[in-house]
Amino acid sequence: MIARTDAAVQTIPAQQLGVPSWQQQLRDAITDPQQLLHRLALPATLLAGSDAAHASFPLRVPVAYLERMRRGDPHDPLLLQVLPQARESDILPGYSSDPLGEAAANPVEGVIHKYHGRLLLIVSGGCAVNCRYCFRRHFPYADNQLGGAAWQRVLDYLRDDASLSEVILSGGDPLATPDPRLAAMLDDLQGIPHLRRLRIHTRLPVVIPDRVTPALVRMLADNRLRSVLVTHINHPNELDAPVAAALARLATAGTRLLNQSVLLRGVNDDVDTLRRLSETLFEHGVLPYYLHLLDPVSGAAHFDRGEQASRALVGQLATQLPGYLVPQLVREQAGALAKVPLAPLIPGAHR
Ligand code: SF4
Repeated sequence: MIARTDAAVQTIPAQQLGVPSWQQQLRDAITDPQQLLHRLALPATLLAGSDAAHASFPLRVPVAYLERMRRGDPHDPLLLQVLPQARESDILPGYSSDPLGEAAANPVEGVIHKYHGRLLLIVSGGCAVNCRYCFRRHFPYADNQLGGAAWQRVLDYLRDDASLSEVILSGGDPLATPDPRLAAMLDDLQGIPHLRRLRIHTRLPVVIPDRVTPALVRMLADNRLRSVLVTHINHPNELDAPVAAALARLATAGTRLLNQSVLLRGVNDDVDTLRRLSETLFEHGVLPYYLHLLDPVSGAAHFDRGEQASRALVGQLATQLPGYLVPQLVREQAGALAKVPLAPLIPGAHR
């Protein structure tokens, strides 16, 4: 009974509760690094040398996400994910603007087709938050717009390849797309008979939970394609009550929820944080799915934890959690036909 009452309240649009709409929250996102630090009671000296990083990949942080950061803590794990830093300008061997070789897998504008049976659509070039570790921080979004004729070319590509059973909406953040446009796209996709699943990779329900509108929940539930939503949550502090409520709205309507994280030095690279992340995700109906090694994108090297240390960390994690709560450690490799799993180094196991 209580749950049903809660669910009913959760379907009231944010505006009716006096909360700005998700689009307004997008527009109100903080884009000035000094303002961000001021609101967190942190000194502007933290920005020393970071102008070039901010100019090439501007800061963007929704207020709802900022409110989960600890005031006065320069090491806050959410702040570290979004704050431009001087060391992003370091030029290091092995790091590039296209670490996953996506330019070579871009057969049609807006399509990345690397793996058998599924492909990815760059539905939006915009994000609600700019994550400093993002492997698409240099992606040519301007050359991959999916309006009008380009969308028709994408549909032709999908119709012509009957081996495809799954479409993945990506970006940018695909949920930055307004609901009516998204609904029209989903309508077109469900009309392609060989497609069976729809997957959405998004960080929007995490940084602006009001993005999970009743219309979005309905369009995923009512679609012929089975929907899977993959949240990108890296730290348990990202999961507050409004995020949990947004995830519950999706799960209640039948959308399966998975999470993928990136292992980030200084943010989530310790066993306790990863354990709490898995347990908190599960409490909110989300299964931890992948833990990615950092993709070697220029500007993000300071987040790298290294392969051996990552395998050891996940090995320790496995000693503390049931198997279904241990995300699979993977590396994405340009040219590989699937993600490459990395075996955890289990303490005490023979090698
Ligand atoms: S694509 Fe995802 S990881 Fe990259 S900046 Fe946008 S939200 Fe962050």
